[in-house]
Amino acid sequence: MRPVDVGDQADVVEPPDHGDAAGGVAFEPQPRLAQHRGGEVEARRRPFAEPGGAGKAYRVEAPRVGQGGGQGGGAVHAAESVTPALTPGVSVLAPTVCPRAWPRIAVPCPASHPGGVLAAVRRSRRLTAPHLAARPLDPAKFRDPALTAKGEVRASVALSALRTLWVNTGTLCNITCRNCYIESSPRNDALAYLSAAELEGYLDEIARDEWPVEEIGFTGGEPFLNRELPAMLGAVLGRGFRALVLTNAMKPMRNHAAALLALREAHGERLTLRVSLDHHDPLLHDLERQEGSFAQAVEGLAWLAREGFRLHVAGRAGFGDADEAAMRAGFARLFAAHGIPVDAADPVALMLFPEMDARVDVPEITTACWSILKKSPDSLMCASARMVVKRRGAVRPAVLACTLLPYDPQFELGATLAEAARPVPLNHPHCAKFCVLGGAACSR
Ligand code: SF4
Ligand code: SF4
Repeated sequence: MRPVDVGDQADVVEPPDHGDAAGGVAFEPQPRLAQHRGGEVEARRRPFAEPGGAGKAYRVEAPRVGQGGGQGGGAVHAAESVTPALTPGVSVLAPTVCPRAWPRIAVPCPASHPGGVLAAVRRSRRLTAPHLAARPLDPAKFRDPALTAKGEVRASVALSALRTLWVNTGTLCNITCRNCYIESSPRNDALAYLSAAELEGYLDEIARDEWPVEEIGFTGGEPFLNRELPAMLGAVLGRGFRALVLTNAMKPMRNHAAALLALREAHGERLTLRVSLDHHDPLLHDLERQEGSFAQAVEGLAWLAREGFRLHVAGRAGFGDADEAAMRAGFARLFAAHGIPVDAADPVALMLFPEMDARVDVPEITTACWSILKKSPDSLMCASARMVVKRRGAVRPAVLACTLLPYDPQFELGATLAEAARPVPLNHPHCAKFCVLGGAACSR
């Protein structure tokens, strides 16, 4: 089991050797503030007095990666205030990154080149800064599946019709993104590679019990790292389902080019690939993912377009300064420049997902909220979807309420689709922020 460097772009990522593979450690979410290179660098923020200012400010520092020359212990210099006032009395200083201290980010030292990454950080301040200024989650909330902190009846969502079955192929990924909600990386195998045989069991259950499933969605990690993905796609498409694969369109996907072309030839429009692009601006995308990842993703996207695959793109709302209209306009320019046939005005073809941050305070959803918000519980993902996962060390896969909460045990509903058909109490900040108030949808 070889560890894989983040920058290696490997086509094969083996699960790390944990030494106790049978130990049944279920999951290990890895909290990060600003993590790069698979956890080797973990930035930490600490308050300090802003020179000449009355408010509270933050400095972002990171220990040295271990390469290059020294920079006073490798600290990233905080040098320039990029957000004068997010909230009264609070400002945020962006790191000015020196390549000697942080060699993976190949930008000129801002001491001599004041542009570069500073400009990117400045433009992405809405992403990096709000959770510093936002009110933290009230710890009394989201404790009781039945009642809210105020004692009101918590909303729940019944499975109205199982239309989409999501399959998590495993959490390993060829890269490590700062914003990855599932904490994927070349080392996180909390969710193990699911096998084609295990998926077939669920496809058999769908057929036997006549579940009204129309689409099977594949997510990860990077699904193309799972060697059995082409076999799984063949099984799904061969049984007449639509298939949707979420991918970063980088090297692991291209390594399955021949198999993908054969699947497209046999099944055409029933296979959709949804490519993740954090932002239409290469600098901002690479800031979140890794240097060069934008170019590779766009190259993969353009290849898919040339070969006639049905395509969707997933971006992020609220990333950078732009509002949604400007974001869609930016993506439209990118698609036109590369011949990518995705309608940037279509909210499903170009999905812009709200940010997910379970640390920020959000209202709890009660049964009264449906009418107040004029929203139907049937519009939420957990009314029409479930996700199959295989936890590391587990004997068999499990079925979760949705794709968004892979590590919270209260959203693991059973081993079979039948067991997982029960209602889901909305007892997590993501339920409120991302689904009910954020309006996210995941497939069409
Ligand atoms: S490419 Fe996707 S799965 Fe991989 S780390 Fe980034 S966001 Fe997570
Ligand atoms: S996060 Fe959304 S889809 Fe998942 S259980 Fe909560 S409301 Fe349902």
